[in-house]
Order: sequence, then structure tokens, then C-alpha cells
Amino acid sequence: MSKGVDSLKFRVAIVGAGPAGYFAAQALQNLANDDRTFEIDMIERLPTPWGLVRSGVAPDHPKIKTVSKVFEKIASQESFRLFANVEIGNDIAIAQLQEKYDAVIIATGSSLGKTLGIPGEGLRGSLSAATFVPWYNAHPDFVGVDTPLDSDTAVVIGAGNVAMDVARMLALEPSELDPTDTADHALDAFKKSNIRKVYISARRGPEHAAFTSPELRELPKLEHTNVVMQKGDIEAAIVRAGDAPEKDVKSNLDAMLLIAENPKTENDRTMEFLFQHTPQQILGTDRVEGVVYSTPNGDVTIKCGLVITAIGYHAHGIEGVPYENGKVVNTDGHVNGNLYVVGWAKRGPSGVIGTNKSDAAAVMQLLVEDLKSPKNAGDISELLTDQVVVTQKHWQKINEAEVEAGEPYGKPRKKSVLREDLLNLAGHAKN
Ligand code: NAP
Repeated sequence: MSKGVDSLKFRVAIVGAGPAGYFAAQALQNLANDDRTFEIDMIERLPTPWGLVRSGVAPDHPKIKTVSKVFEKIASQESFRLFANVEIGNDIAIAQLQEKYDAVIIATGSSLGKTLGIPGEGLRGSLSAATFVPWYNAHPDFVGVDTPLDSDTAVVIGAGNVAMDVARMLALEPSELDPTDTADHALDAFKKSNIRKVYISARRGPEHAAFTSPELRELPKLEHTNVVMQKGDIEAAIVRAGDAPEKDVKSNLDAMLLIAENPKTENDRTMEFLFQHTPQQILGTDRVEGVVYSTPNGDVTIKCGLVITAIGYHAHGIEGVPYENGKVVNTDGHVNGNLYVVGWAKRGPSGVIGTNKSDAAAVMQLLVEDLKSPKNAGDISELLTDQVVVTQKHWQKINEAEVEAGEPYGKPRKKSVLREDLLNLAGHAKN
């Protein structure tokens, strides 16, 4: 990018090092020209960046994670700095950042799982995907989560891609996860798991499912898991969808029909789809014993020892930022003053990782139009007190160490889980 001698240098802080944050940084890098440049500081609560690419994407989907190469390229630019292990709202107030920077961008996603609000949801063995997914992905805050896998049946509630990821992770032959970056503690637990039957339940019919068809189309390829859909359910949905269903609906229904018509397999493990099952109650005294559903044919009880709810997310609030309906209050990404928002915190938990690219680019265009002259008020380094900061160089050490540790096992990386271990890898050892 060419930088004119008289170009205006704006300082921008991005809060959150997930896909939306990186794509916002990339959009700013692309908007730099002879007249204006951007010094970008990305701030992250965890000692590691990459957000959902590290702690959300299913370990058996390594291709989706290759976008991290794009993130590292963005981070390699001279004008980019990482301040990880620093929490905004806790260590530093958002208003303090707003004073220092020409613009502040919230890119903190939606980390809290929505709840059903039905009796029994608080029982042991009833978990949100917002807890279970980061547990198997080695998120430091979820390492100790109680995930009882000792019963023979699990139920996953929701008909989106997160429910599908969770159901697949529970129903896979665990040795298939050996060459992945699944957290060691989760891999051990999956290997000891008694779960052999996993139900995935949708409250509406197949024509309304939020799965995407590539995810459906990979199911018949599972080598050690029977995947069951009732053909009658899919045929009825095809009739209801009519002669001219939307392209995505048609593609999903075609994929589902293939699953339903797939010859029966006799594996130990089964993943079965239930449609038009609306959860009413989770049964149990000390722990989960079953789920009661209402269906068009009356109430049905499914006995199980684990229930995972994957029905969407809402954003975790940051003090000083306005929220409504689980999102940051904004107009096309502008919050107020010099505060902006991108990604799931802006539009809610929808879309795939790439959706954040065009979304962030549109918001950055608007932000750049709002910028007049740089305020030259300093940067976050003047606000840090005793935080142990993980910079890009530190993160590179963690990254290289994890990749190296994975090599003997044929894994893309062996993740460290505890903050202390991550900080040690970063070279921040406490002696
Ligand atoms: P989602 O796609 O919005 O699906 C949420 C599901 O929860 C819907 O089926 C919804 O059913 C159901 N639901 C909501 N409230 C419910 C309730 N009270 N009772 C029962 N069911 C309820 O959300 P997500 O699965 O969390 O995924 C979030 C985004 O990440 C999506 O855009 C998804 O595609 C993306 N993602 C992509 C991948 C991938 O590309 N491989 C992987 C994971 C996630 P109704 O339609 O009936 O409300």
C-alpha cells in the first residue's frame, strides 16, 4: 500500500480477535491510500486470537480453519499490533479506548447460548452448545465443564449447523478425531463415552431446518455412524415446500432425501433426526433422564442422560456499550460517536465465517467516511498497567509450539488449554 508523506495516520482499535475483527482490519488495510493510513491495534480477552476459528469450528472440519492463514497475513502488516490477554470492560474501559483512538470497533461476537426456558434445563447433563463446543475446542474458560457422557443416549436440540457439529462430535467414532486438534481432555472423554445414540431434534419440519446442504451432504460419508432420517418426514416436507421452493431449501431437501434413502448401515453409533419435535420439559431429579416433546402425534419422551441445546446465541455485554435483543444497538455498524460494531455482535449469530468479510468491509467504508483528522491521543499501551500482554510475536511462539507438539501425532496442532500454559508458551513464564 503506498503511503504519501502527508498522509493522515488514524489509530483504530478492534476489540475481539475473531473472524469479524480480522476482516475489519483487512478492510482498513485495503482502504489505506496516499491520503490516509491506519494503525490497527487488535485487543483480545484470551491469550490466543482467531475467535471461533480456534474455539468454535468443529475439529473434524480442518478446511474451514485454513482461513487462519488469511488472519496471519493481515496480522503480518507493519501497521497491525495484537494485544491479547487484555480484557476490555474489565482491565480497560471502552470509553478509555474511545478517548485514545480515532475509532473503536467492537468485534466480540455472541458467546452466550440462548436457553429454552423449559423445566429441567438446570439439571446436571443439560448444557448449552455455547459451553460444550468451547469445551471440546480447548477454550481456557471451559476446561472444567461437567460433560456427563456415561449414558447411552444424548439429545441435541436445534436444527442449525452448530447442533449438527455437536451431534457429529458425539456420534463419531472417537479415533476419527485423533488426527484433529480436539482438546486432549475432550478426546479422552469421547473415547470413554458410553453414548451410542444421538438424537438431533428440530421443532419444525425439514423444509425449515437451518442446516446448510454441504453439512448434510457429508453425513452419508461418515464411516462408523448410522445416519437416520425418516423418508416419510422428508417426502411430506417436499410436498409442503411446493413446486418452487427456494434454492437452499431444495438443496437441503435433496440432501435429506439422499440420507433417508441411504442403505441402512449397522454401526455401533447412530445419529437420528427428529422433526416437528418441540421440547416441553427436561426430566430428571439429580440429573437429566429424558426430554418430553410435543409432536403432531402427541407427547413423546426420549430417554437420555445428556441434552445439549444449540438454538442460537446472544452477545456478552461490555460495559459502556448499548445492547438490545442480544446485539449491540447500531445503525449499519455505527454505534455512537467513534464506536462501531461488526460481525455477530452487530447482526446476530448468522452466516458463515466468510459472511463477515463483506459485512466488515461495508462498516469500514462507513467508518472511513466519518474520519476527518487524526486526534493523536496515544494508544492502549498508555492504559495498560500490570497486564501480561500477548503480542503477535508471543502468539507466534504459542502457534509454532502447538503445531510442533501436534506433529508426532499427525495433528494440525496440539492445543494448550490453561491460560498459564499458553502464557508459558508465549515466553511469559512465571518463575
Ligand atoms: P441457527 O442456524 O440460527 O439455528 C438455530 C436453530 O435453533 C434453528 O433450527 C431454530 O429453529 C432452533 N431453535 C431456536 N429456538 C428454539 C427453541 N426455542 N426450541 C427449539 N429449537 C429452537 O444457529 P446455529 O446453529 O447456532 O448457527 C449459527 C450460525 O453459524 C449459522 O449461520 C450457521 O450456519 C453458522 N455455522 C456454520 C457452520 C459451518 O459452516 N459448518 C458451523 C456452525 C455454525 P427455528 O428455525 O424453528 O427457530
